[in-house]
Amino acid sequence: MTEPQEKSRQVKCPQCGRLTLYSTENPFRPFCSERCRLIDLGEWASEGYRIPVRDSSSDSLTSEEDDHDDPHEDKH
Ligand SMILES: [Zn+2]
Repeated sequence: MTEPQEKSRQVKCPQCGRLTLYSTENPFRPFCSERCRLIDLGEWASEGYRIPVRDSSSDSLTSEEDDHDDPHEDKH
């Protein structure tokens, strides 16, 4: 009952799911790279990641609905 894979054990990167070496050779273990490690730590947010810009096109939709104001109370 010997495990020959002890020297090259591989684990799945918790971030991207890629198989990565889990040993002292990998300073980012159990992650596959520094990037995945940073992502997990949440430090990547301030690292220059693009923040989704708000949709400015929805602005025209609002003004269109605003035009629906019909004071038809004179029908009474
Ligand atoms: Zn990864």
